[in-house]
Amino acid sequence: MLKDFFGGRKKDAAVPSEKAKKDVPEGLMQKCPNCNKIFYRKELKNNLYVCPACDFHHRLNAWERIHNLFDPDTVEEWDATLTSNNPLDFPDYEEKLARDQSKTKLSEAAVTGKGTINGFETAFCVMDSRFRMGSMGSVVGEKIARALEKAKEIGIPFIIFTASGGARMQEGVLSLMQMTKTSIAVKRFSDSGGLFISVMTHPTTGGVSASFASLGDYNFAEPKALIGFAGRRIIEQTIREKLPKDFQTAEFLLNHGQLDKVVHRHEMKRLLSSLLLMHTEGVESHE
Ligand SMILES: [Zn+2]
Repeated sequence: MLKDFFGGRKKDAAVPSEKAKKDVPEGLMQKCPNCNKIFYRKELKNNLYVCPACDFHHRLNAWERIHNLFDPDTVEEWDATLTSNNPLDFPDYEEKLARDQSKTKLSEAAVTGKGTINGFETAFCVMDSRFRMGSMGSVVGEKIARALEKAKEIGIPFIIFTASGGARMQEGVLSLMQMTKTSIAVKRFSDSGGLFISVMTHPTTGGVSASFASLGDYNFAEPKALIGFAGRRIIEQTIREKLPKDFQTAEFLLNHGQLDKVVHRHEMKRLLSSLLLMHTEGVESHE
């Protein structure tokens, strides 16, 4: 009887009470998926969400990236309320869009606008992989095309941060058409003399990697980002060969001439602002 008494109490004590559970604020700690070490979220945030132990670059959502990169109070968002409809009557598409909109507080998978980086004005598009996996629906394509047109009119450079799972399956061929549409918009922008910089972040795949993401005057990527068109398994099955372990990583692409530089997140702002300086008309070098 005495044994039952102690045994019972011990079991109860191991379960945290509802109150104790509530005392730990949600999202206070975050585990690094690469090295499994646990950090205060604030510590990670101060380090631009780069793991202090293993240098793993955590995914950033669109506004975190914009706030990290642009000078405070300089950002003006464009086409913030543009949303997709359901042109193919795809089952549950509207519900899925509504769910992602309330989860991310975004109208679509890309945020466009302009702002300044260390004082240099530039237009931007930042994709957000939390919204339908950053897939390129007709609104993503339209926002990119409109933003490029606007940057051309104002006469400022354009920087795009890609993060995408590829095509938006619920929009079928309309999604695929965005590859052509955005590529033509980039071409027109470049023909007018505009500077177009592409920064590929984890993951950049499918139609996005095969269109505007690879069309930069400079093509950069964050360390270890997965970049590719089709998945590894599909390619292996098609060519009947085993692919190298680091295939489709930023580093692999750099070694094979498909990228200009792999850029650490801590270096990004400095590098982009030096390029903006180099390409700004009327600025004389003091060296
Ligand atoms: Zn880590």
